[in-house]
Parts: sequence; C-alpha cells; structure tokens
Amino acid sequence: MAIGHEPNSKIVDGKLEFNKHHKGYLAVEGGTTRTSVEGVFAAGDISDAVYRQAITSAGAGAAAALEAERWLAVKGLGNEEADFEASLLEDMREEVEVEGGGGYNAYSEGNAGAGRKESAAV
Ligand SMILES: Cc1cc2nc3c(=O)[nH]c(=O)nc-3n(C[C@H](O)[C@H](O)[C@H](O)COP(=O)(O)OP(=O)(O)OC[C@H]3O[C@@H](n4cnc5c(N)ncnc54)[C@H](O)[C@@H]3O)c2cc1C
Repeated sequence: MAIGHEPNSKIVDGKLEFNKHHKGYLAVEGGTTRTSVEGVFAAGDISDAVYRQAITSAGAGAAAALEAERWLAVKGLGNEEADFEASLLEDMREEVEVEGGGGYNAYSEGNAGAGRKESAAV
C-alpha cells in the first residue's frame, strides 16, 4: 500500500494544462516551471511524476520563485523594497550634492547610520 501518491491537483482542473502522459500531474514547459497560463508556475510533486522527492521539490520551488520574480520584473510589477531603497539612495545623493558636492560618503561625519536598513537599526 502507498499513501500520498496522488497529486492533489483538482483545484486547477480546467484552468491549467495537465501532463498528457501522467494523470493528475501538471504540464510544465520543458526544463522550466512555466505552466500553460502566463504568470503561473508549478513546482514539486504536482508537476513531477518522475522523482517526487523532497529535495527535487525544494529545488523546483526555488526555480519557480526565480521565474516568478523575473516575470514580475518584466511586467514592471513587484520589488517595492528595491524601488524604495533606490529612491532613498537617490534622495541622499541629491542632499549631499546640494550641500556642497563631493559625492556621498556613508562614513563621513553627519552620515553615520544613513542608508542603514531599518531592520538593522537598533
Ligand atoms: C509516504 C511518503 C514518504 C516519502 N518519503 C520521502 C523520503 O524519504 N525522501 C524524500 O525526499 N521524499 C519523500 N517523499 C516525497 C516528499 O514528501 C515529496 O516529494 C515532497 O513533500 C513534495 O513537496 P511539495 O512541496 O511538492 O508537496 P507537499 O509537501 O505535498 O506540499 C503540498 C502542500 O500543499 C497543501 N495543499 C494541497 N492542496 C491545497 C489547497 N487546495 N490549498 C492550499 N494548500 C493546499 C498541502 O496541504 C501541502 O502542505 C515521501 C512521500 C510520501 C507520501
């Protein structure tokens, strides 16, 4: 007897394309985690009828996260944190230029702690 060997994929039945050779498994474009719907990525047992291991699922999860991130970037969506940091840095550069130029130096007097990430602030 084997338990846990049926992919729980009913939730996307009729929405995503399934693997023609392996019932219940999602189809992904060869070597990627891309599904038949743009912006939807599949990883792990739901799209892997061959290995079905924790480590391969974790690896596919990392791949799916990267592909999702790239997809969002191409669409001009997401990564608000990076946008925020870039605009903060731009503001700091502008301030220094107005105060006399010479370029921004995080270690010079008056800049102590400037640019430090909030999570690192005590
Ligand atoms: C009995 C058994 C023994 C195993 N032994 C090993 C082993 O020794 N070594 C090894 O590497 N691998 C082993 N595996 C395989 C390993 O467990 C899987 O490959 C791995 O867990 C797959 O990870 P996953 O994230 O794709 O899926 P899962 O770990 O199954 O995670 C899917 C998650 O999605 C949730 N979920 C499902 N439907 C929905 C829904 N509609 N809405 C929200 N959440 C939902 C589930 O509750 C679950 O938490 C074993 C598997 C079984 C069944």
